[in-house]
Amino acid sequence: MELAARLREVDEAISSKLRELGRVDQVTRIVVTKNHTVELALQLFELGVRDFGENRDQEAGPKAEHLAELADTSELNWHFVGQLQSNKAKRVVRYASTIHSVDRQSLLDALVAATAGDDKSIDVFLQVNLTEDENRGGVNPNQLLPMAEQVASAPGLNLLGVMAVGGLEVDPRAEFERVAALSAMLVREHPSANKISAGMSGDYLEALEHGATHLRIGTAITGKRAD
Ligand SMILES: *Cc1c(COP(=O)(O)O)cnc(C)c1O
Repeated sequence: MELAARLREVDEAISSKLRELGRVDQVTRIVVTKNHTVELALQLFELGVRDFGENRDQEAGPKAEHLAELADTSELNWHFVGQLQSNKAKRVVRYASTIHSVDRQSLLDALVAATAGDDKSIDVFLQVNLTEDENRGGVNPNQLLPMAEQVASAPGLNLLGVMAVGGLEVDPRAEFERVAALSAMLVREHPSANKISAGMSGDYLEALEHGATHLRIGTAITGKRAD
């Protein structure tokens, strides 16, 4: 199947699931283009895609710059979805409008510094770690509210909500339920931080059932990547 057909198929599956759920809110379908060429990103742009996801600055920075030379990307959003080193924060905020993976104090401090004195603000998700494995990205759920407090008080940062990456050998529904519960807890303190970034190629429909508002979809649209 070609790119346009895969994109249409995914978008139709999303629309049909939203109808089934009676959801009328806005869902952002991000196409994750990591390990794919700028040509593929351009094709997607020409097919109407305006939200792109990347997980490494070394790849995303040049790709964003290159795409801007090929097309009018003023209406385009780059979403940074991977683990981010604090020393890259300054670079990433130059092209990314949303960072989905804020999960540490040092990164938060770097983002506050990178956006200080700037007119534009950056949208952020706090990534939660639902596993016992400390090496996976994400804050411990008990750190969610203290970190949210700090994001809320940083003038250059706009808190959208929670983000999670599902584990490999677990039932995605159980994880999405926990993410939804953490989101509800966050929203009680920060009513506008009601977005949920969850759901990838294999589980985006289940994520929608549990309230996901931002889907990060790679291979189901782009096809296999070399990784
Ligand atoms: C690669 C990636 C995705 C997309 O994964 P697919 O399974 O290809 O849809 C989503 N989220 C993050 C954080 C990723 O790194």
